[in-house]
Amino acid sequence: MNVTNNYALPAAIVAAVENDPYSRGDADISVTELIAPAQQRALMREHWHELEEDAADRLFALQGQLIHSLLERANIKHQLADIAERRLSAEVAGWALSGQFDNLILDDSGTLQDYKYSSVWSVKNGVKEEWVAQLNVLRWLVYANGYDAPERLQLVALLRDWSKPAAMRERDYPPAAVQVLDVPVWTISETLRYIVSRLADHEAARNDIADGDKPVPCTPAERWERPTQYAVMQAGRKRAVKLHAHADDAHAHAAQLPKARVEIRPGAAVRCESYCAVAHLCPQRQAELAAADAA
Ligand code: SF4
Repeated sequence: MNVTNNYALPAAIVAAVENDPYSRGDADISVTELIAPAQQRALMREHWHELEEDAADRLFALQGQLIHSLLERANIKHQLADIAERRLSAEVAGWALSGQFDNLILDDSGTLQDYKYSSVWSVKNGVKEEWVAQLNVLRWLVYANGYDAPERLQLVALLRDWSKPAAMRERDYPPAAVQVLDVPVWTISETLRYIVSRLADHEAARNDIADGDKPVPCTPAERWERPTQYAVMQAGRKRAVKLHAHADDAHAHAAQLPKARVEIRPGAAVRCESYCAVAHLCPQRQAELAAADAA
């Protein structure tokens, strides 16, 4: 993967992006890769040397890595302190799986916390499926390496786009720039089943690409799909009276109100549009764009 600098960012930032200390080490797959879409990982592996990513697009990942310094500065003594600097790994179904632990704290009450930079939008509807999976797989790695399995899981989200005026104005807006969210805990055997099933998906995608076939498509959740919404707008109001999932419901609602109309807020596959380095090589995304052009 080559790093470009299309926005003339300062050399120090580009160098920080290029000198990424994070790798899966000797493992076959990291926890981050395990939970990523199988199609995306297989395409990335296949085209790694021809891929480009701009330094500007790596800034959020860079911020995430800075959390390690934040936790060091906090100087909290915790059970994972001795493994915080390294990866834990385990062998599953012939794969060496590894996970990085430097953004995590395991406190004395048995709570494993993962610190992440995130957007307000990402946490508004609770913890994302992939974060639930990530934390449970990391918990499983702790257990597989001879530690007691943490009893509780929490995501500590540092909200990079949080706005104080929005918090004062909107009822369902996070009241502070840091949110602590409880994450559902899977059983150890449930987690192992998930890991084995993901590894099978990655194996299948890798074989599909080697055979010249299309890999299994990414799911709506993997594509971070936002559905199309139909907003009932009324003269004199800036915000929608109500957002509907179906056009018919929105039109029926608007018909009952004076001076109301329906505004379409198109859905999007957010990951495909903005956060997937292989979108230009992806058969699923390219077919979708071709269908949209033809419509
Ligand atoms: S572009 Fe979208 S569908 Fe294709 S690999 Fe990336 S996330 Fe999956």
